Amino acid sequence: MPKGTALPPPERPVADETADALPSKARAIMAEVTATLSSDALEGRAPSTAIEPKVLDAIITRFKAAGLQPGNHGEWLQEVPTVEITATDPTPMAVTGKGTSQTFGYGDGYVAASYRVVPETRIADSELVFVGYGINAPELGWNDYAGIDMKGKTAVILVNDPDYAAQTEDGLFKGRRMTYYGRWTYKFEEAARQGADAALIVHDTFPAAYGWNVVNSSWTGAQYYVQTPDDGASATKANGWIQKAVAETLLKSAGQDLSALSEAARRPGFKPVPLGLKVRFGFDNTVRKSSSHNVVGVLPGTERPDEYVLYTGHWDHLGHCTPDASGDDICNGAVDNATGIGALTALANANVEAGATARSQVFLAVTLEESGLLGSEYYAANPVFPLDHTVGGVNMDALLPGPRARSFAMVGGDKSDLTALFRAALADEGLGEVPEDHSERGSYYRSDHFSFAKRGVPMFNFERSTDLVEGGRAAGDALSEDYVTNRYHAPSDEYSADWNWDGIVQEVSLFYRLGRDLADSDSWPNWHEDDEFRAVRDKACAASQGGC
Ligand SMILES: [Zn+2]
Repeated sequence: MPKGTALPPPERPVADETADALPSKARAIMAEVTATLSSDALEGRAPSTAIEPKVLDAIITRFKAAGLQPGNHGEWLQEVPTVEITATDPTPMAVTGKGTSQTFGYGDGYVAASYRVVPETRIADSELVFVGYGINAPELGWNDYAGIDMKGKTAVILVNDPDYAAQTEDGLFKGRRMTYYGRWTYKFEEAARQGADAALIVHDTFPAAYGWNVVNSSWTGAQYYVQTPDDGASATKANGWIQKAVAETLLKSAGQDLSALSEAARRPGFKPVPLGLKVRFGFDNTVRKSSSHNVVGVLPGTERPDEYVLYTGHWDHLGHCTPDASGDDICNGAVDNATGIGALTALANANVEAGATARSQVFLAVTLEESGLLGSEYYAANPVFPLDHTVGGVNMDALLPGPRARSFAMVGGDKSDLTALFRAALADEGLGEVPEDHSERGSYYRSDHFSFAKRGVPMFNFERSTDLVEGGRAAGDALSEDYVTNRYHAPSDEYSADWNWDGIVQEVSLFYRLGRDLADSDSWPNWHEDDEFRAVRDKACAASQGGC
């Protein structure tokens, strides 16, 4: 949940509740569904466990009652095959060359994991190449891999993007605002496309926004992926992180200087720097295959049923977790994200009752968001409805109870034609717009809409500001702070009959209107010309038969 920065309130009066297009019973539906899904009986909705069928049944029952049809060729479920890989017996990292030989420990010097489903991972005699920020962005005329063949080599990559330290959001990589190119997921994907053996990101607390302890704890232990037909063979052999001090030592022994090279990497025309050092490390992999399920409901369109508008939200949460002081060990996930499924259900009801739109509307409850957006990733890689026939959509993740807000923020900034629709809706509702708070954190890249966006489908993601109609920013910040500090991913994220649904109703009313407008129009909104996702959409649309 959101914190916008203080801007003056909108000049128009805030519309009262009766002006909301969303039917008034949406509130009761959302409360019922949230209460059911977050009850102790559903044990915190851990995917791929014995409780999963009960959770899926609860969602399907609601989708049926709303009047949706099963969306996956007559079935409600889409199986999501997953693989869990745990590195065991890691070796230290050995680096030789230029007359030196050094080793760095696993956990304190480096961490790494395999994206490939293989019994063991060995990186041997792989030449280290410093590739700056590891970005290849043709639309920006930027290629950190220019002129080098990475086959058999290991990329050493800086975290974030070249202008992360800026105060403003101006610049090729949008200044302090996080871009896709600044995300670690992108860097590993690009290193794989370049054919590298392995990729190692240099950790640095400020641009990474978290300490080495976070890297260490999230990269040691089980890693989760969706199964792919090639068992991950198109990924690098190993992806990992090294401590900044390790990078400094390495570069020094190569006759280089990390801060000088980092400085060079911020300027256009940077060329990759082979370090004349070879790296060796490895580990065994314990592999466990499993599966979970997405729920797919559809309301077929009346005029162009083969064009689709999405509503998405994740049903999974953390299940049993670390007990709190009272001994409660169920992470119920009421806000995160029983509310999103409550909203999905209420939107299904409202749309069925208002009558089908020209285009089909898809209601997608995805799994395994908490494990790294895996359910949406699987759907987007194996779409039930082709992505070049998918106009766009709205994702809902963790709707925070509380009073109505005066304003909303576009998460990710103004990236696409969807911004104009968003602004028109705000104006009609008498709501203001504030900039996204903490744009450097890259929230746009951290929930399920991103799985669609990176494949070119324009997706809305916006947030209610903390500037409340009653109580203003002080009250809103306190509510948000209470959730982040006391409830987020904790057993106390529980439903209460005392919840104030006014803010959520306000938010879902916008989702309702925007989804319906998109589903009744014949336009195909696109990303802006210089956006990171424009090229992939244009390519898909150029090849499309009757879609975008
Ligand atoms: Zn969530």
